Amino acid sequence: MNIVNDTTNTASTWGLYDQMRPQEIEAIQKKTPIAYLPWGAIEYHGSHNPTGLDSIKAFSLCKDLAEKNGGLVFPVISLAANLIKSYPGVNFPKHSIEFSEKLIRLACEEYLEQLVVQGFKIIVLLSGHAGEPHLTILKTVAEAFNSKYPDRRFWALAEFDILPDDLLVANHSAIGETSLQLYYAPETVDLETLPKDRSITLELDAVSGDDPRLATKALGEKIVKLFLRNASLIIEELKQKFL
Ligand SMILES: [Zn+2]
Repeated sequence: MNIVNDTTNTASTWGLYDQMRPQEIEAIQKKTPIAYLPWGAIEYHGSHNPTGLDSIKAFSLCKDLAEKNGGLVFPVISLAANLIKSYPGVNFPKHSIEFSEKLIRLACEEYLEQLVVQGFKIIVLLSGHAGEPHLTILKTVAEAFNSKYPDRRFWALAEFDILPDDLLVANHSAIGETSLQLYYAPETVDLETLPKDRSITLELDAVSGDDPRLATKALGEKIVKLFLRNASLIIEELKQKFL
């Protein structure tokens, strides 16, 4: 006997926007019009981490968030200003692809506008790069969009914004970022490249923050789990208000 098909159990609740056909996108968007925009960078992250750490981190966290809360993840934007390349007092000219603050602002404005046109009601912009004013520019643009479109919500954040300081603070390739990288893509990390006979410094190792030699996959997992819990609580509130 043929029973009415219940597609709600089998239909996806989330997906990668650029890898889906329109029917699949629309089925998800109808239920959960949330877009996740991972904003990354190509930036020198010392000898022990890959140049795409910020991009990998932002994209992976967005995927996990979408899996938990529903919605569509856009391709990572590896476009950043204020990289370690131009950080005062250090000399790391190689392996960073840097853009102007002006371009970051414009790219962000245009991307958010396009997401409005595509009908998204909640836009989560997660920045993997915490350089300043890069991060503030993204947040400022999101706030301007909140004023412009009061029936939608644009939430720009960095992962450490919603985590306690004793777990994670803004850092560059230090214990926090390195642990996250060990969790999401361990094959891309090599702690053996770091010196064993001296302290780790910003000037010599391009590390800002606590010792990355103490990074572990377990710490990365702990950071991810709490991030997902805290972010999901906020997304749940946004869903109540804006969907
Ligand atoms: Zn980084």
